[in-house]
Amino acid sequence: MARLWNAPGAPFPVAAAKLAAMNKGADDAARWLAEQAKPLEHALAALVEVNSFTENVEGGRKVGAMLEELYAIEGLESRRVASSKFADHLVVSSRAPTSGAQPPIALVGHLDTVFPPGLFEGYRRDGDLARGPGVLDMKGGLVVVAWALKALAQAGALPALRLVIVADEEVGSPEGQSVIREAIEGASGALVFEAGRKNDLIITRRKGTGAVTVTAHGKAAHAGNAHKEGANALWALAKLVDRAQGLTDYARGVTVNVGKVTGGTSKNTVPDRAEALIDLRFETRADGEALVEALRKAADECAVAVQGTRIEIEGGIARLPLERTEASARLMESYGAAAKASGLGSGEAALIGGGSDASTSHAMGIASIDGLGPRGIGFHTKDEQIEVATLVLKAQALARFLASLRS
Ligand SMILES: [Zn+2]
Repeated sequence: MARLWNAPGAPFPVAAAKLAAMNKGADDAARWLAEQAKPLEHALAALVEVNSFTENVEGGRKVGAMLEELYAIEGLESRRVASSKFADHLVVSSRAPTSGAQPPIALVGHLDTVFPPGLFEGYRRDGDLARGPGVLDMKGGLVVVAWALKALAQAGALPALRLVIVADEEVGSPEGQSVIREAIEGASGALVFEAGRKNDLIITRRKGTGAVTVTAHGKAAHAGNAHKEGANALWALAKLVDRAQGLTDYARGVTVNVGKVTGGTSKNTVPDRAEALIDLRFETRADGEALVEALRKAADECAVAVQGTRIEIEGGIARLPLERTEASARLMESYGAAAKASGLGSGEAALIGGGSDASTSHAMGIASIDGLGPRGIGFHTKDEQIEVATLVLKAQALARFLASLRS
């Protein structure tokens, strides 16, 4: 089946051919969306007006309730996945499929933002732009999805789908990752609605990240009277800092940054404890795993080199990379055809550093593309903004793509 992007060697999916034949459901949906600029922006403004910083659970719950209303669409049902730490996560599914139906397509987003209450608030229209916390990252993407689904429901062209909106993406989706895994198992592909890039470049690759805490333990002693009896934890750590930094390999896209070091108590005491915080970035899962292993080995050797010390390593890979696969390239081309038909760009983005939930779906073996929200700049800053006109265009692109999945 052409639309099974995950099947090795599957031919190019049907989307492009169907688009060329001007799929009627897609046309009806796109035409309806062309008249929806005002209500779409209105819904976005309402979402942005409510602060949903990851740790602002109450605000996140309000936004979650607003989203439930937005996704109350004929043919879809939503359920909350309760959280004890964050706002509840939301899963929206098409009704039980008939037997032999195609696998669902997955749509992935998050409702939290990086802005604590009071730092950057409110929705503001500024000419062709809209500004506010989350307009781009990624409440804009959430309304794009909602309106594309509304349009398809009206046109009778909703495909089998699973939509997951997590409440903890901005802190690495500690809970969201398992919510996503449970919700989109078996999906034919995953579309992620993070910030849309300049020229609507589609994201197929993101670096993976790691976070490691290193603690060196030694033995305290008076630096004057008993120097020989001490074991200097800072010395062991210093050796490891050098080794760790040396693991950087720009050609492979692997970087190690020792970002913070603490330790010792006073000038004349041999320090019995020292700590370092290390950031890791890598392009492939294999490189990430090799990097963590190399750090462990270096830690053991550095501890041996300073008698009486030992070094503990905590942490490791925090977020796996999003890697481009043959299947995700086909998915990109297929979605790209729908984007092009909607007047948007359809090129591929260069590799970027920031992580997203696309790495979770990719790690499940599901072809994943990202950056499908409205076009804008400045996410995670007070300059966050979108080009308002792209809300409708991105919704049209998604509707066209999803309509093409129906046989
Ligand atoms: Zn985001």
